[in-house]
Amino acid sequence: MANKRILVIEDEEDLLALVHFNLMKSGYEVETALTGEDGLSKARKVQPDLILLDLMLPEMDGLTVCRELKAQGETSQIPVIMLTAKGEEDDIVTGLELGACDYVTKPFSPKVLMARVKAALRDQGQKEGQGQEDLVRGDLIVRPGRREVMIQGEPVQLTDTEFRVLHFLAGRPGWVFTRYQIVNAVRGEDYIVTERSVDVQIAGLRRKLDVCGSYIETVRGVGYRFKDNL
Ligand code: CA
Repeated sequence: MANKRILVIEDEEDLLALVHFNLMKSGYEVETALTGEDGLSKARKVQPDLILLDLMLPEMDGLTVCRELKAQGETSQIPVIMLTAKGEEDDIVTGLELGACDYVTKPFSPKVLMARVKAALRDQGQKEGQGQEDLVRGDLIVRPGRREVMIQGEPVQLTDTEFRVLHFLAGRPGWVFTRYQIVNAVRGEDYIVTERSVDVQIAGLRRKLDVCGSYIETVRGVGYRFKDNL
């Protein structure tokens, strides 16, 4: 099987070299670009399996690159992990809603970055998590087929919307979703979910999930995430 190919778009040459080195060491094929324009053209040419995209790029910024990638058929399916700086929460939210799958905040350890790269590639290979299979997460079991939630073997009563929010988040542990993405995922015919009401749903869920309430984490300024590695 051919090695996975990863395109890194980053204008800081030291960081680019470090990421390049670590990806190679992990057995990936690596392409690099120092500008958004070059990154876009390389993405089209080499069709990478994954793109690491710095948001703060000169001239064409990372969000514009992300928008372009997602707008074009030939690159729209390539997963994108954003490389961001602290304080870029608004941009992170925008990027996730544009279709980036994840982000890593600088400074990051190579180990963390490699773990996220692996997770993104694995996720792309499976595209599961929102099906009908039971989700077992720590002391929590979510059974979509029966609309049932069990905590340490005891059933928990949730509203329909709460159930959908939980099923959505628990389907991809470790991934951050914005309020807007959650609204889109759980949109029901009977009940209008707004970005504002997501917070209310989460608060209710945490209360009802009791000992498992902490499984749903708030990611400040960005959204919510179901805890990984329970
Ligand atoms: Ca930069």
